[in-house]
Amino acid sequence: ARAAGRNRWVWYANNMASQRDHKRDMAQRIEQALRDDEFTLHYQPRYQLQSGRLAGAEALIRWQPAGGPPIPPDRFIPLAEENGLIVAISDWVLARACRDASGWGADRYVSVNISPVEFRTTDLVERVARALASSGLPATRLELEITENVTFEHPQQALEVMQGLRALGVRLTVDDFGTGYAALGYLKTFPFNGLKIDRSWMKDFPESQQAESVVAGIIALAHAFALTITAEGIETEAQLDQLKRLSCEEGQGYFLGRPMPLLAFAALLDSTSHT
Ligand code: C2E
Ligand code: CA
Ligand code: CA
Ligand code: CA
Repeated sequence: ARAAGRNRWVWYANNMASQRDHKRDMAQRIEQALRDDEFTLHYQPRYQLQSGRLAGAEALIRWQPAGGPPIPPDRFIPLAEENGLIVAISDWVLARACRDASGWGADRYVSVNISPVEFRTTDLVERVARALASSGLPATRLELEITENVTFEHPQQALEVMQGLRALGVRLTVDDFGTGYAALGYLKTFPFNGLKIDRSWMKDFPESQQAESVVAGIIALAHAFALTITAEGIETEAQLDQLKRLSCEEGQGYFLGRPMPLLAFAALLDSTSHT
């Protein structure tokens, strides 16, 4: 039994070491990818559900290493959050998204995902201001999506950063609502403009009575806090119809449009702005 225990320990130690190697290797690859310009942004259209109007787009990062398979954001964003490279990535995303969106016409916005760890430092406000200034994009056309657990570690600090961002004129949205452990009080404490229901809640919606009640409840909750509500992960017409009936303001999902390269999104804007 002792030998087995030791073997397990050796296996565990080796595994830890290889995980550490993997992380170091990934960090170097991310830095190299920033230098080699291997990141791109895709844009997923967001619609006003009641009018059907194309309201803007969410910027989603894509990584296509030269000669290798694409690496999905779920595989490198968490690592970049851990090792701090997320700041360099986000600066790149902010600059590119603001520049791209400045060509979309007066009332279309772009929304950018900001990692919770970026709220640990107060320079987020300056970083966002810099991206806006160098692109010329008005602050009112930028939205930041912040995962709901952001507010817990350093609430006072997060509040000040959010107030600074709001003072610029930027809109703030709670992302992935319903996946974290946040207490409802933070909807009142922090200056959010909107709330996004996580797509995991769309799974059995609207067929299941329970999913339907939960989604209706989240929409009512958002409205009680005077927040605009966006549903993500809309994959069927039945979901779209029911969300409209429940007075959900905005939506996105494969049924409405997949994330697409800038040129495709610009073409979509072009084809809808005349109708
Ligand atoms: P998220 O913020 O929840 O973004 C929505 C994800 O759902 C995206 O995955 C999108 O492609 C996918 N999606 C959209 N509509 C549908 C649908 O109808 N059905 C299904 N099954 N999926 C749909 P993606 O692009 O792989 O991004 C995954 C996550 O990575 C994002 O989740 C976000 O947390 C993070 N991420 C992506 N880009 C960035 C970025 O630029 N910065 C940061 N910090 N995080 C990012
Ligand atoms: Ca998001
Ligand atoms: Ca997110
Ligand atoms: Ca989500």
